[in-house]
Amino acid sequence: MNLLYKFIKDHRIAKGDVQNDLAMCLYCGKCQRCCRPKAITVNQKEKKWEWDSDKCVRCGHCIAACPVKSLRFVK
Ligand code: SF4
Ligand code: SF4
Repeated sequence: MNLLYKFIKDHRIAKGDVQNDLAMCLYCGKCQRCCRPKAITVNQKEKKWEWDSDKCVRCGHCIAACPVKSLRFVK
């Protein structure tokens, strides 16, 4: 297995998945704007929040940016 691929895979497993408590979410889009790999899509009108596990590099920037702390890593 390619070493870089293995590192990314291990990092993803170690961190877990990004989960959003939608009852708290304001659909403000701050998480989407700070996500460089574009793993988050927010539709404020339709109150939709989507996260793409394959694109996410588990950097945690979205979690730090969320004003209501509705995001977290879950293993
Ligand atoms: S930053 Fe937080 S409140 Fe805003 S859309 Fe993202 S998860 Fe929802
Ligand atoms: S952890 Fe990083 S890459 Fe993953 S959704 Fe949040 S900002 Fe994007």
